[in-house]
Amino acid sequence: MAGRLDGKVALISGGARGQGAAEGKLFVREGAKVVLGDVLDADGQQTAREIQAAGGSAVYIHLDVTQETDWQNAVGVAVRNFGRLNILVNNAGILRMEGIEDTTLEIWNRVIAVNQTGVFLGMRHAIPALRQAGGGSIINISSIAGLIGVGGAAAYQATKGAVRILTKSAAVQYAKENIRINSIHPGVITTLMVTQGIDPEARKLFEQATPLGREGSAEEIANGVLFLASDESSYMTGAELVLDGGYTAQ
Ligand code: NAD
Repeated sequence: MAGRLDGKVALISGGARGQGAAEGKLFVREGAKVVLGDVLDADGQQTAREIQAAGGSAVYIHLDVTQETDWQNAVGVAVRNFGRLNILVNNAGILRMEGIEDTTLEIWNRVIAVNQTGVFLGMRHAIPALRQAGGGSIINISSIAGLIGVGGAAAYQATKGAVRILTKSAAVQYAKENIRINSIHPGVITTLMVTQGIDPEARKLFEQATPLGREGSAEEIANGVLFLASDESSYMTGAELVLDGGYTAQ
């Protein structure tokens, strides 16, 4: 059976675990070859091994998204190993829950560096390779925290809002080159970011306030990323795909 990403090569930042790993596994099942980049080298190598053991093509590369040379290297690895790059998923991110007054300048700068500058650098270095491939798709992982105020998480919210509009800016600039760029806005998704980073009481309240009544899974987000990565979304660029159990519909 034909895969939805047959012949495509994808680079996924933050691909060692969580949503990025789920995207890598799904992409390979749909016929893609993937490069997983992360700072968690042991986890990333393990995820790549699992994909290879299932018969898929995956390599892991150390990629700190705040480092321009790491991005150059990661794009180079995709092109050298698999011949081209068609898809970039800017998925790496860190969560800090502090509000404005508790956010030190150090926390602020770190969250901006990973969540915002990381997305910028990813696009900056992947776009020449996508152009070379005749076009492609970039998926930037924002959040519902990039759409509405949630209280606290000041730096995180600022970065996710920035990713939303940077996506639209880039989408308009590169549409003529057949490079589509969209953002995804997950609600609360059960990954280590949430199980380690959000208080259980707050998670319960969020579930109660979510029309579908539960947290989402990494696989449910990966399904949305797959759609945007594939040619099925060929008329979609600069758009926001909200996957939040209805939270922001209220
Ligand atoms: P996660 O913590 O499991 O995964 C994040 C990954 O990013 C990790 O593998 C981590 O090592 C990697 N990472 C962190 N800093 C990095 C850096 N400097 N360079 C490269 N990689 C780095 O959490 P997740 O839920 O899978 O998060 C994936 C994305 O989804 C993030 O951008 C997050 O902000 C976003 N998101 C998550 C939720 C949620 O509820 N889990 C909701 C909305 C958006």
